[in-house]
Amino acid sequence: MNTPSFDPVDLFLASVRAVPDRPALEVDGRAWTYAELDELSRRVAGWCEANCGGVGRVAVHGAKTVLAYAGILGVLRSGRAYVPLHPDHPAGRWQSILQRSGVRSVIAPAEAQADLRVAGAGHFLDLESLPTALATSTARHTDEAYVMFTSGSTGEPKGVPVGRVQLTAYLRHVCTAYSFTSTDRFSQFFALSFDLSVHDLFVCWSAGACLCVPPGDGALQSKAFIRDQGITVWFSVPSQAALLQRMKALQPGSMRLLRRAFFCGEALTADLARAWVQAAPEAEVVNLYGPTETTIAIAEQKVLPGHWEVPGGIIPLGKPFPDHIARVRDGNDLHEQGEGELVLSGPQVNAGYIGDAARSKAFFVAEGRKWYATGDRVLVDEAGVLHFLGRMDGQVKLAGHRVEPGEIDALLGPKLGGGRAVTVAVQRSGATELATFIDVEMDPVVLYAALREKLPAYMLPARILFVDRFPLGPHGKLDRKALIERATHG
Ligand code: AMP
Repeated sequence: MNTPSFDPVDLFLASVRAVPDRPALEVDGRAWTYAELDELSRRVAGWCEANCGGVGRVAVHGAKTVLAYAGILGVLRSGRAYVPLHPDHPAGRWQSILQRSGVRSVIAPAEAQADLRVAGAGHFLDLESLPTALATSTARHTDEAYVMFTSGSTGEPKGVPVGRVQLTAYLRHVCTAYSFTSTDRFSQFFALSFDLSVHDLFVCWSAGACLCVPPGDGALQSKAFIRDQGITVWFSVPSQAALLQRMKALQPGSMRLLRRAFFCGEALTADLARAWVQAAPEAEVVNLYGPTETTIAIAEQKVLPGHWEVPGGIIPLGKPFPDHIARVRDGNDLHEQGEGELVLSGPQVNAGYIGDAARSKAFFVAEGRKWYATGDRVLVDEAGVLHFLGRMDGQVKLAGHRVEPGEIDALLGPKLGGGRAVTVAVQRSGATELATFIDVEMDPVVLYAALREKLPAYMLPARILFVDRFPLGPHGKLDRKALIERATHG
């Protein structure tokens, strides 16, 4: 018997053969069958063949239309990697991404093309210009599958190229560890520029199931959406579930159709997990953990109903996927157990960042293996279970989005005429928000305007505050704690 391939395109094509007439995608009020998506994506691949030469990367504008989904599939079918662009991010950020990834060809709806041209894009494909010629080549132009950009403390987003082999390793595990069928209906809440969306698309298409894209703001309408669309497989950040909880939308038994619910991207509290289990009593709930650098997720913990007394009130991160190793780093030493920075090794670990050798130090070699240092502080217990304790650095999650406060500071620095900006994350009214301190008197309106040119809305500080002098600790170092204190109560 042939061993099945878990390559993303092979998984999709196996479903095209098995269930050509079943819906693969529902978006904008229209269903697309596997056969239809197959044809559209082969035409996209044909366009890549004709227009992209030996270039290995093509950008995809992330507006959630059939074009983006066929675009992602088509780029991968053409043996290239896709670089998603969030539709709501400013052109300045697109420009930085296009430049850093060396991309000029973009699959994008006609209405987005003028802005993309300003950002440096040169060739466009939209539904109207889709050629009828189907791709014929099976050449591979890159080992990458996609490049995701996350917040970077140097003032520019950080590009993480994720390999096709690494993605295949992820899909091999998830598609075998959890059972899905062609009658499943998957939610697709994540932005296409967030790597968790890759799970949505390819785990769904591996099963011949239907990917259901919510209209408008998926987060707010998600309760009605799962009921009306008969969603059976849910995947979101915990913040989205917490929003439902705050809206009193998690009544016991209210989501009986759900068979599986995955959470990832930030800490899942036991309190929220319990509310979810009560609302969706038939669902297996799984806490996934993983940085973009290690491909979507790399550790898993099934939520065990009744086991709500967990350290720190947070569901553990569980154990690494098979073939992966987790260690705790203490200086140059790696330990199997204990508390410290989590480092990970295995087939899902990627190679580094685009054009950023210094930052690629987060990837290192020890004990004859390649490792990624996550910056997450964990406890690895005697059973090898990982428990999340927080971050080693200032990185924060805002509604699941990864933010390096240093990126804001680096952008503001040149605007401050010798002054300095320091951004901290604070808890106010139960939510995390950013506050930026500056030590020169400047009109915040001007500073916000500069930030808006480069940053997505979720990265804008809630407040810009003035200090005469930055507080210093006993060793003369900046006293961040004092700033956090001031921003929390000020
Ligand atoms: P990203 O690269 O955007 O997926 O962010 C990765 C970071 O999100 C990790 O390094 C953690 O800090 C955090 N994270 C991801 N999943 C979890 C989880 N299940 N529990 C706690 N933190 C998480």
